[in-house]
Amino acid sequence: MNTPQLVVIDDEADLGSLVCDVAEQSGFGVSQFTSARQFMEQYNGCVDVIVLDLMMPDIDGIEVIRFLSQNQCPAQIIIMSGFDSTVLHSAQKLASERGLSFAGSLTKPFRLSQLTELLESLEIKARCHSPGTTIEPPSAAELKQALENNELVVFFQPKISLNGDSKTAAEALVRWQHPEHGLLTPDYFIDTAEQHGLIDQLTWVVLRQVMSQCSQWHDQGLGVQVAVNMSAHTLKDLNLPEQIGNMLQQFALDPSHLVLEVTETALMEELIKSLDILTRLRMRGIRLSIDDFGTGYSSLIQLYRAPFSEIKIDRSFVAEMDNDQEAATIVQTIIDLGKNLNMKTVAEGVETEDCKDRLKALGCEQAQGYLFARPMPADEFFRWYQTYPH
Ligand code: C2E
Ligand code: CA
Ligand code: CA
Repeated sequence: MNTPQLVVIDDEADLGSLVCDVAEQSGFGVSQFTSARQFMEQYNGCVDVIVLDLMMPDIDGIEVIRFLSQNQCPAQIIIMSGFDSTVLHSAQKLASERGLSFAGSLTKPFRLSQLTELLESLEIKARCHSPGTTIEPPSAAELKQALENNELVVFFQPKISLNGDSKTAAEALVRWQHPEHGLLTPDYFIDTAEQHGLIDQLTWVVLRQVMSQCSQWHDQGLGVQVAVNMSAHTLKDLNLPEQIGNMLQQFALDPSHLVLEVTETALMEELIKSLDILTRLRMRGIRLSIDDFGTGYSSLIQLYRAPFSEIKIDRSFVAEMDNDQEAATIVQTIIDLGKNLNMKTVAEGVETEDCKDRLKALGCEQAQGYLFARPMPADEFFRWYQTYPH
């Protein structure tokens, strides 16, 4: 394996070289820049991690973020700053919104052990990086072929109950079992599906597999409630409630076993039409979940108007809970909101015991994340479930 490359950009040369030392000890090849301009002139894309100071005299960190985004830089970005955490948060949000991969932040002065921890967690991320993210997106024709060849398969990730009820639940996450590239995650092909009118077909492939699997599990004595991700496009089809209703009937499934996950952004595209469809889905007894909650815009108003049964707290807040008080406050506020509006709250991206314990103490009802299990094929899910302590 190649040595991962880390670049430090900070006008404080001493701090920069300290970061380099720590990174070297963590197994990185390092380069240091004290001027952002110099970094930009020499940039060639061959970097895995960038540690970036926000406040620099010639060109500041925000400009570097813009530059990296224009160059579609794939590196993981760590932001350092002496400012308070609100500035760090907006820089972080800016980086993510510009399509960069944000890996963490450090408020100066920080302990070297904080840096080491962060770098070590990155190594883990690098190791589980999906192969799909490094290959070119598929063409519409390739994806169409894959859909016809049944190469799309559904994986299931458990949603764990934190409040002691023993209901079994899972989220269905689509994968492409590619004949050459192996198993590919949705980041690689969902955009192509959305852009070339294949997303409805994909959704129906997923819904059919999910319902068929669910009914098989029911026959085996495992009543699983499964959540399916709905794209904005599918949500605009006025026939959706009836078609889903028919499919549920075909598989003899109770509608309460199906949850549809909808993102705020999807909802906003054609709000009135979506509200019509969502209301009719809900009237049929299908549960609706608002996904990635906290990352959209008119959150509160949408929650009030649309008939959601559950809120999924976005993993960007959940993951930061352990070391960021503001993120923890947001999570708590969302859980309280859920309680007050009579909606279940689900936290996604739970990776540590600590995080789970805190969520439970705050009254969050369900949790999902690598701490419990990664998404897995249906038969594995069934076996996993048999051995999971209830
Ligand atoms: P999402 O709906 O937010 O799904 C959760 C994503 O978080 C999944 O990524 C899951 O593998 C990942 N995840 C779960 N636990 C953890 C954790 O502890 N830590 C971290 N870092 N990540 C965790 P995945 O499977 O790659 O899916 C990515 C996105 O693709 C999904 O995000 C969803 O928006 C979309 N997607 C997946 N399946 C479908 C589908 O059938 N239809 C549509 N339209 N979109 C789908
Ligand atoms: Ca989801
Ligand atoms: Ca989500």
